[in-house]
Amino acid sequence: ELRYLPWNRTSPLRQRWEHIGLRDDRVELTYEQFSAWAEAFAEQLGEHGFGRGDVLAILLPNRVELLVAMFAAWRLGGAATPVNPVFTEDEAEYQITDAGASLVVTLAPDAPNGDRSAIHVDDMRTVRRGEPRPPAEVEDDDLALLIYTSGSTGRPKGVMLDHRHAEVMSATMAHHLKLTEDDHCLLILPLFHVNAIMVSVLAPMRCGGQVSIAGQFSATGFFDQVEWLRPTYFSAVPTIYAVLAALPGDVHADISSLRFVICGAAPASPELLTRLQERYGFEIVEGYGLTEGTCASSCNPVDGIRKIGTVGPALPSQEIRITGPDGSFLPAGEDGEVVISGPTVMRGYLNRPEATAETIVDGWLHTGDVGRLDADGYLTIVDRLKDMIIRGGENIYPKEIEAVLTTVNDVLESAVVGRSDEMYGEVPIAYVSVYPDSRITEEQLLDHCRRHLTRVKVPERIHVVGTLPKNPVGKIDKPTLRRNLNTQPA
Ligand code: ATP
Repeated sequence: ELRYLPWNRTSPLRQRWEHIGLRDDRVELTYEQFSAWAEAFAEQLGEHGFGRGDVLAILLPNRVELLVAMFAAWRLGGAATPVNPVFTEDEAEYQITDAGASLVVTLAPDAPNGDRSAIHVDDMRTVRRGEPRPPAEVEDDDLALLIYTSGSTGRPKGVMLDHRHAEVMSATMAHHLKLTEDDHCLLILPLFHVNAIMVSVLAPMRCGGQVSIAGQFSATGFFDQVEWLRPTYFSAVPTIYAVLAALPGDVHADISSLRFVICGAAPASPELLTRLQERYGFEIVEGYGLTEGTCASSCNPVDGIRKIGTVGPALPSQEIRITGPDGSFLPAGEDGEVVISGPTVMRGYLNRPEATAETIVDGWLHTGDVGRLDADGYLTIVDRLKDMIIRGGENIYPKEIEAVLTTVNDVLESAVVGRSDEMYGEVPIAYVSVYPDSRITEEQLLDHCRRHLTRVKVPERIHVVGTLPKNPVGKIDKPTLRRNLNTQPA
């Protein structure tokens, strides 16, 4: 029983038919209107030959039509692959082709569509023309989404998620966050990412709550929107919180509607989270997950013990273990690779059986993250295996150095990457962004590192920069930093 499909007779949304379900800065829809629009657009897709098992590519920025298109594809028993709307033509073409999409919904008139049909967003049918057609029987194991991972490791791969994945994840998050029909999510993150779809759309929708799609993110615009729309929560990445933390002056907006806020998708420093709690009174719950696990695998509770610096205990329905190099499970307190099992582990990577077999071993999803569990089962992410720096044979976790740097009050965000070095193989180089009024120097930061880190971990250089490069989801783009570093003369 898929509770987030509004036309499903058993969906609780039927009791919320007259209520506003979804809005952006141009449109506001009741659940009935949303469902009717998805039906009308499904009719139009059907006329293009789209049906069960087909894949719809959606190349749109966050707006109501993106979700209308996604639900219309589902109504016909098809799947959706949301494409980053700022992708270059090559990048978009790669995903659309790889996903085997037969039809594209686009914003740009000249968007790449090869020999496929494309429907321009303004031509999306809003009212049904023909006779009502019953929705397809959607099965749990029908493919719902093909989400492409951001590709910090090679070409992006399409993660196959069924309706069962979406159902279990949205139900788990709704339960964990204690969502009800009174909840209202301000959607900030891009919808080509699982976090936005699961936590900010399907979880509130399945409870009959509201979703407001925010426009382009800006700190001041954000506070205006919170005051005006009165959302009860939002989910964001650390970068967004760093922007809010660095906002100069006093903020007078009324943000009392926020019950809690979620931080995830990338490491956040405990100092940043504490500062935000103090400054804005946010109740911050940090969670952890990856696309291959359909979104969150662990999350701190909204009421209950929240441990800053951890990403919380495993969510119900999921199991988290730490493994050693030989694959054995390690006890609490020891560092090793985080592995996950449960019904939200992806079906696999599309058309990549080898990559799938390397990632899911005996039912355990290998995350590529190093972590440790405490005695209460709370997970701490130590670092990503692939970000580890090996200096003269010594393993260095960049996050440990970043953690030391962010204890300096001036430092907003930091990133440490390895630069190749003739003598040591690799050496750590740090980049930090600082608060606007800061005058801190590289030498002062190095001194601080020397006091708190053993010699091998002290960065060779610390570059103080205005901002750090970010990937499309808003995570610090370490591959770019690393690449620039290793192609420039030392
Ligand atoms: P790719 O897998 O293509 O390199 P990606 O890893 O950014 O891209 P996602 O699925 O978006 O793809 O991100 C999952 C990763 O994000 C996790 O494996 C982990 O490294 C990191 N992550 C997520 N949440 C947290 C968190 N709360 N703290 C630290 N790291 C996190």
